Amino acid sequence: MDLLVVGSVGLDHVETPFGKIDDALGGAATYISLSASYFTKPVKLIGVVGDDFPNEHVDMLEEHLVELDHLEVVKGGKTFRWGGRYHYDLNVRDTLYTELNVFENFDPVVPEKLRKNSFVTLGNILPSLQQKVIDQLEGNNFVVTDTMNLWIETTYDDLLKVLKSTNVLIINDSEARLLSKEANLIKAAAAIRDMGPEYLIIKKGEHGALLFKDGVIFSAPAYPIDSIFDPTGAGDSFLGGFAGYLHNSGDMSFDNFKRAVIYGSTMASFCVEKFSTKGLEDLDKLRIHDRFLEFRELSRFDYD
Ligand code: AMP
Repeated sequence: MDLLVVGSVGLDHVETPFGKIDDALGGAATYISLSASYFTKPVKLIGVVGDDFPNEHVDMLEEHLVELDHLEVVKGGKTFRWGGRYHYDLNVRDTLYTELNVFENFDPVVPEKLRKNSFVTLGNILPSLQQKVIDQLEGNNFVVTDTMNLWIETTYDDLLKVLKSTNVLIINDSEARLLSKEANLIKAAAAIRDMGPEYLIIKKGEHGALLFKDGVIFSAPAYPIDSIFDPTGAGDSFLGGFAGYLHNSGDMSFDNFKRAVIYGSTMASFCVEKFSTKGLEDLDKLRIHDRFLEFRELSRFDYD
């Protein structure tokens, strides 16, 4: 199976109480690919940028063996740009602007040889674009999907269609409530799983994550970090770590899904420690595994 990542690649402007950064590498597919690259190689990215996209970002992604053969570069086009400002409570974010630019006419094409037996991660983009990818798939594929409030509110029916072809949906708690119209997360999870996904992961920010499958629940702790600089891309890094680990191990047991959730949380915790993608650029397997093991200690207790 190949690991495909579909989504935005862009340049971000981010302001947090700790500083700001301009023209920083961003985009959901960027974070997902970089995070997954520590578990499985090559990660095949499907996306689009303009010819203003800096070469240094291309080099950095390629150094991580993210395959960019299917990253379309539009001549004379402008790369997707997004600006966000975080409040003192870093869980609260205002979008300052979203300039779709070349992304406006993005028409994702899954190359012929990748249409079968692929592990496909659909980053948070318009559900109709996610559906375009799904429609090109043939036979046995495994689809992990992300989405957001905006799409739940504005393109609900398109999203429902995507969910029917989704194996794993990864969303946060407010999105789960919005999607299911249930305040209680357990009821919300049951309602969402009825929409299609066999597995559902609900991220609860600094309170961890819940994994749901047929009558079983796994509750993952959050890693206590005292130096969160930039939460941008945390959700995408989670997705990348989760998908990369699962793809590489090839083990689809529930116990292994639990480990994948912890690897996802591990990668999200590295992401937020630095601005932009910097927290994901200089990691190694040992550091990642050490933090993974710290998660185990966080919720282990004895009982005689
Ligand atoms: P997250 O913090 O997980 O929500 O992801 C943030 C990343 O998503 C940023 O790097 C943005 O460039 C990208 N992004 C923000 N809005 C959109 C959008 N409407 N479509 C695609 N990507 C987006």
